[in-house]
Amino acid sequence: MLIAGNWKMFKGPAAARAFFDGFEPPADVDVVFCPPFTSLEAALESGRTVYAQNVHWEPRGPYTGEVSPEMLVEVGVAGALVGHSERRQLFGETDEMVARRARSALDAGLGVIACVGETLEQRESGDTELVLKIQVEAISFAAGDRQNLVIAYEPVWAIGTGKTATPEQAEEAHAFIKGLLDRPILYGGSVKAENAAQLLAQPSIDGALVGGASLEPDSFAAICRAASTS
Ligand code: PEP
Repeated sequence: MLIAGNWKMFKGPAAARAFFDGFEPPADVDVVFCPPFTSLEAALESGRTVYAQNVHWEPRGPYTGEVSPEMLVEVGVAGALVGHSERRQLFGETDEMVARRARSALDAGLGVIACVGETLEQRESGDTELVLKIQVEAISFAAGDRQNLVIAYEPVWAIGTGKTATPEQAEEAHAFIKGLLDRPILYGGSVKAENAAQLLAQPSIDGALVGGASLEPDSFAAICRAASTS
């Protein structure tokens, strides 16, 4: 089981260090932290596995505001998220950009958690599988046989909304994605200590990507414990 915490634009270095002082997960769960760029080094001091929240596809160049895979490797970061729905929706990321980010990161030796998921409108109009197929195939084509890739299924309507996909809805989407690409798949979307065990018990759910509930050491450790007993 892999449990990843996406801190989004929360926690500078001091708050990151304070988090790790109080965080005690079970030993048998793989835990990944995705802090903001300025807190990467503070998070790395904890000895935990640290991923960036995004990564560019070029090694260097005139790309203001971007960070390359090589730069992440240099500071000891182990991987990167790509294609988070907030990047897609608020910053105009396309499937092509997400695919290029994934491929370059994998080529540089980073792990990648690539996020996919449908909006509420797409779900209600019956397009969930079509959307997932387009998003997953773009990532799969770019990744080829590069191995260090995990998919995160995050229905956009469940992110930060308190609305969680039912275990059945999540399992259905995960099983569909596994039919397209045989990689571990994390579920993300309002995962909390109270709903984690039921979600993680589904056969095609290999872990969770957690936003809000990863910000507090006790709640995140409780989710990790649910993964440990699943
Ligand atoms: C996320 O940001 O990836 C996420 C799933 O957020 P939340 O858990 O807050 O819905």
